[in-house]
Amino acid sequence: MTPGERERLETLHRLNILDRIPEPAFERIVRLAKRLFGTPKAAITLVDEHRQWLLAREGIAAGESPRKGSFCERAIESDLPLVVLDARLDPRFSPPPDVRFYAGAPLVYASGIRIGALCVMDSSPRDFTPADAEALASLAAIVVDELKLRKVTRSLADQKEALTGILGSAGEGIVVADHTGRLTVFNARAEELLGVRAGEMSPERWSEAYVSFTPDGETPLPAEDLPMARALRGEATDRMEALIRNRHTGREVLISAIGRPLRDSKGRLRGGVVTFNEIAATRAETQRLAQLATTDALTGLPNRWALRERLDRQSGTCAVLMIDLDHFKRINDEHGHLEGDRVLAAVGAALRAAVRNSDFVARYGGEEFCVLLEEVGAGQAVEIAEKLRSTLRDLPGPPPVTGSIGVASSQACAVSSGDRLLAAADRALYRAKRGGRDRVEAATAGDVPAAT
Ligand code: GH3
Ligand code: MG
Ligand code: MG
Repeated sequence: MTPGERERLETLHRLNILDRIPEPAFERIVRLAKRLFGTPKAAITLVDEHRQWLLAREGIAAGESPRKGSFCERAIESDLPLVVLDARLDPRFSPPPDVRFYAGAPLVYASGIRIGALCVMDSSPRDFTPADAEALASLAAIVVDELKLRKVTRSLADQKEALTGILGSAGEGIVVADHTGRLTVFNARAEELLGVRAGEMSPERWSEAYVSFTPDGETPLPAEDLPMARALRGEATDRMEALIRNRHTGREVLISAIGRPLRDSKGRLRGGVVTFNEIAATRAETQRLAQLATTDALTGLPNRWALRERLDRQSGTCAVLMIDLDHFKRINDEHGHLEGDRVLAAVGAALRAAVRNSDFVARYGGEEFCVLLEEVGAGQAVEIAEKLRSTLRDLPGPPPVTGSIGVASSQACAVSSGDRLLAAADRALYRAKRGGRDRVEAATAGDVPAAT
């Protein structure tokens, strides 16, 4: 391999021009060369590793031919044009019979890198003056300029395509506008989040497509406060939260937006860019909030809302126990509220520990607890209630703790709706209190309120 051949081939292949359909710019230059020098043949050849490929040709049938022994292989050995007035007199060449004259100017792409030649040929010997050679070299330089321009244009097109791809697949909404507010970018995610097509987003109709509010969903955001409006005034916006409501679909999304003015190298305002995304609570956050909403902080037991939800799902044989601590006010009064809290926590833990894992123990409110027992009959429910009453009495004091319990079993009440059992248990509990406290009372069908 001749010195520099590898770089030469790399350059040629980077141009990505071999084996493509002819382009008018190169065909024009070849026609011009043929006309200018009055030869029947002219071509732009690119010298590949083993062949010469014709980028454009006039008066020549074959689009490529072997490199070895060709004129052009010789022409790329120097920056100066190669002129062969009569090939029959030149032992270096063994040309086809229809070529005796050859003049070729190398395509000098960069210093030492000659990728091919612009050549003219004739079947009979001719004269070629130094001025002719110079003119041919000038045309060859135009071919190189054209190739370079083409490369720049193509790489700009490639870059644009890459950018469009990136914008299209970005996980954020991206909107870019020029200084007049005309949108130049409105990517797919922006369409999705705002619920509008890019085409609907002309500056005049901007505010028609959707309405924005502060996160409360009620206070409208004035158009001049929107991140893009601010960017176009030269102001930055950082993590502004807004609720977007699509006018047509009513769909709402909570977003966080960042806005920046775009300036040219002289600092002049050229437009604005806004990026935004939906604020969605993370899964962990959502779980934590759900946990908070359904758990009682003092006892760690499920709260009344969790119980309601549990009762809604209840069907089949079960029993509901409503437990109210007796004279709890006194405990607070005599021992202090903090001690009252401690007792409540201890009661919660004791009740939880006294029943099966599958049973549901909730703090219903204040000093009231509720236990949902699954798969128990009327007698068993009362037994368990009695057991829980003892559990309370046995709590290590002081202060001594007792509780009254109303029991409503689906068997005794002839009803399986959790809600109605709860009401029945409440009535039984009332009787237990009236009867002197620290006792268990069982509800009957008569305690069940009529279905609503
Ligand atoms: P009864 O036997 O009739 O149920 O009498 P009681 O005093 O237990 O009933 P009442 O409903 O009159 O009072 C309940 C008391 O429980 C009043 C309230 O201060 C107390 N209480 C409710 N929640 C808490 C709490 O979270 N911590 C503490 N320390 N006390 C609480
Ligand atoms: Mg009470
Ligand atoms: Mg009480």
